[in-house]
Order: sequence, then C-alpha cells, then structure tokens
Amino acid sequence: MPSAIEAIRDAIVNDAPAEEIAALELPTTARGALVREEDVDMFGDLPDDDRDPRQALRIEEFPLPELAPDEAYVAVMASAINFNTVWSSIFRPLPTFGFLKRLGRESYWGKRHDLPYHVLGSDASGVVLRVGSAVRSWKPGDRVTVQCNHVDDQDPSSHDDSMMASNQRIWGFETNFGGLAEISVVKANQLMPKPEHLSWEEAACNGLCNSTSYRMIVSKNGSHMQQGDSVLVWGASGGIGAYAVQYVLNGGGTPVGVCSSEKRAELLRAMGCDAVIDRRAEGFRFWKDEHEQDPKEWLRLGKKIRELVGRDVDIVFEHPGRQTMGASVFVAKRGGLIITCAATSGFMIEYDNRYLWMNLKTLKGCHFANYREAWAANQLVCDARVHPTLSRVFPLEQTGEAAYAVHKNLSEGKLGVLCLAPGEGLGVRNEALREQYLDQITLFRRFEQG
Ligand code: NAP
Repeated sequence: MPSAIEAIRDAIVNDAPAEEIAALELPTTARGALVREEDVDMFGDLPDDDRDPRQALRIEEFPLPELAPDEAYVAVMASAINFNTVWSSIFRPLPTFGFLKRLGRESYWGKRHDLPYHVLGSDASGVVLRVGSAVRSWKPGDRVTVQCNHVDDQDPSSHDDSMMASNQRIWGFETNFGGLAEISVVKANQLMPKPEHLSWEEAACNGLCNSTSYRMIVSKNGSHMQQGDSVLVWGASGGIGAYAVQYVLNGGGTPVGVCSSEKRAELLRAMGCDAVIDRRAEGFRFWKDEHEQDPKEWLRLGKKIRELVGRDVDIVFEHPGRQTMGASVFVAKRGGLIITCAATSGFMIEYDNRYLWMNLKTLKGCHFANYREAWAANQLVCDARVHPTLSRVFPLEQTGEAAYAVHKNLSEGKLGVLCLAPGEGLGVRNEALREQYLDQITLFRRFEQG
C-alpha cells in the first residue's frame, strides 16, 4: 500500500485525471529543505563566503499547516535554487526567522508561518491538490508554476503595483512553506500555468529569475528597454543575467554580457550574445584594496564596451553591488540608467556621484515582479520565446550541495531540485513545441555536460 505522498506522486506521474487528484488523501506531513532557528548562530563570526549552506540546510518532515481560504496546496514536482536560498541558509544578512515572526503578528493565518523552522524555496512546478474556499480560478489537478510575490490584497498599498505593497513578501524567503518541499502552500494569486513543452524541472526554474529580469528589462516599472538600446549585463550567464540577455535580444537590443570564464563566454555566444567581456581574463579590478576604487579600471571597462559595440551602454543591469557599482555608474551613457536588484558582493555601495549628476544618469532600484509581470514572463516561456536556463539537477536530499554551488559561483544559469518527480524529463505534454526549440531549451544542460 503506497503512502499518501507516494500515491500523490504516482497519480501525477501517471497523468491521473483531475477528479482522481481531487480525491487523493492528503498526508499530514511532507518532507522539505528547511533551516532551524536553533542553528542561526552556528557560523559564529565567519564571513559570508566561508559559511556553508550544506551545514544549515536539513531535509526533514514537517506538519502541513491548515489551508487559508485564498490558498492552495501544491504537490511540488520540482523546485530550484535561488540566491535567497543561499542567504537563508547562511543566516545573512539576517536570519529569516524575524520575517516569519513579523508575518506571524499580522493575522490568524500569518501566525502559521511563525515556527522554529523555515521551509525554504521560491520556485516550484507541480500540481494543485486542494484549494481554499475563496479560490476561483484554480482547481485540483491543474498543472502550475509558482511566482513568489506574496501579497496581501486587503492592503490598499498593493493595488497599483503590488511590489509597492507595504507588506509585500517573497514566498519561501519571507514566508514559510516554500517550494523546496514535497508539498507547498501558496496563495492562489501566485499560480501560473505550467509551460507544457517543458519538464517539471525546466518549468520550475524560471519563476523567480525570469520574472525579476522581465521587470528589470522589459517593464515600465524597470528600465523599459527600447529597441536599439545596448545593455551591460553583469553575471550574464547566471540566474537573472541569462534571462536578461534573452530579454535584451528579444526586444531588439544589444547585450554586452559580462562573465568570468571562457566556458561562460562561449555559452553567451551560443545564446546570441556577441559582445562578451570575460572579466577574469581581462583582469578587471575595480577596487585597488578594501577601501579605494580605481577609476582607471572604470575607464578601461568603458573603452572595452566601446570597442565591442561602438558606444556607451544605455542601461546597466546591476546586481553584484559593491564590487561593480562604481564601474556601472561610470560606464552608463549620459542620460543612461543603472538598474539594480541586489548586492551579492556587498551592499555598502560606493560610486562617484559626479558621474551620476553631471551626466544626468539614473540609479533605480528594482525588486522581483508583480503578478501581471510574472504572468507575462511566464507566458513568454509558455510560448517558447524565453527558454529555461537549467544547467544541473539535484535530488531534494542534495539541496545543500546545490545551494553551495550557487553560493560559490560554481554554476551557470539555474540549478533545479527534484522534489516529488522521480526523475528528470517528466511532465512534458507538448512534444511538438519542445522538438522545435530543443536546442535552446537544453543549451545550458548541454554546456554543463560538455
Ligand atoms: P547567480 O546565479 O549566482 O549569478 C550571479 C552572477 O553574478 C554570477 O554568475 C557571476 O558571474 C556574477 N558575479 C558574482 N560575483 C561577482 C562580482 N564580484 N563581480 C561581478 N560579477 C559577479 O545569482 P542570481 O540568481 O543571478 O542572483 C544574483 C543576485 O541577484 C543575488 O544577489 C540575488 O540575491 C539577487 N536577486 C535579486 C532579486 C530581486 O528580486 N531583488 C531576484 C533575483 C536575484 P561571473 O562570475 O561569470 O561574472
């Protein structure tokens, strides 16, 4: 007799009809990748770089919480690693338990999240198992992906651009019951249709990074790139960078992709990004030492960009932060835009403000995406106009290894995690569309495998 969770997995793998999925017994617990509050001091004074996610991430069984009226249980077939999984599991810049406590103070339903463990993960693909009484557009059996914008729609501040909502949160980072688990709890307004030409793991890896890059490059809330614009993309073969490159190319722009190895440079060229800067091979060193930057290096980067594309860039897609921001502000064209969503290498930023004001540049902050933007980005994946950047796949038990690889900049594109899916390559329904774009869909995977 299979357990409840095995029965769910088998029904999904065997493509059981919706009525059968709706009738499946729900387990009371599920397995997930979580961190525990008792571990938050485990790294002592170690610097971020030396903290190892493998030590903090545990795979454990946790009780499923009661379902709120506007929520759904999703049987997660696959998930993916994001940098926020790294932050959560090295407890930097803050342990995430403070976020859960704040959510816990908000409401009866919020209280469920405030626990001494935090189930992580901000991406998922899978199947809806049950929906709450207020859910209208989704039902058991629906095959879905999940976007991670967790919004309280009773808050007036969420009703223009929901990313402006005062209590906007990232699911699986600032809320509990994230996607790195066999079953996840999501709000109905996080659900989106699964791209049916993709496997579970290919479908799971896009939500967070693809939506973020869509807002940063395409949306009027971001840089609203125009045809003909040139865009400097830092970390162009990485999680958000590889989607940014696709959006620049799709929108008739010219990406200048920065990376740190010949392998990554080749991958970028294979994506159609002809202007590539290998920052390691070129030996760029924007900081002379811990305290002082080297404006000559900014100048050298600017010259390199002009050599490659004949002019300064209109937009800089910025996220490394402290290591690159001085250079980013310098190399954007007069009147150009530096759009930033992160600071991987340090958030205390320094740049020469003269270049910003005298040359009328704009520095703009950007964060994830609202539901409309995430939906549009997902639709582009469904239409095979944007492709997954999945390079490696790990079983749930090895979530720590996968997070370690992202933390140490050892991976390209996205790293997938199989939750309930018993293997790779499952879940494809539209074989014809897949066949048409197979080269693009599998590009990162093939590069990884050499
Ligand atoms: P990722 O997959 O690790 O890729 C980051 C890329 O940045 C790497 O491939 C690396 O490329 C480059 N990089 C790393 N350190 C660098 C440095 N010191 N100087 C220049 N380039 C450097 O991570 P990701 O998923 O793209 O995320 C990147 C950052 O964005 C993270 O901090 C993440 O938390 C943040 N993020 C924010 C949002 C949001 O909504 N605000 C959403 C997604 C991600 P090379 O070594 O090849 O140059």
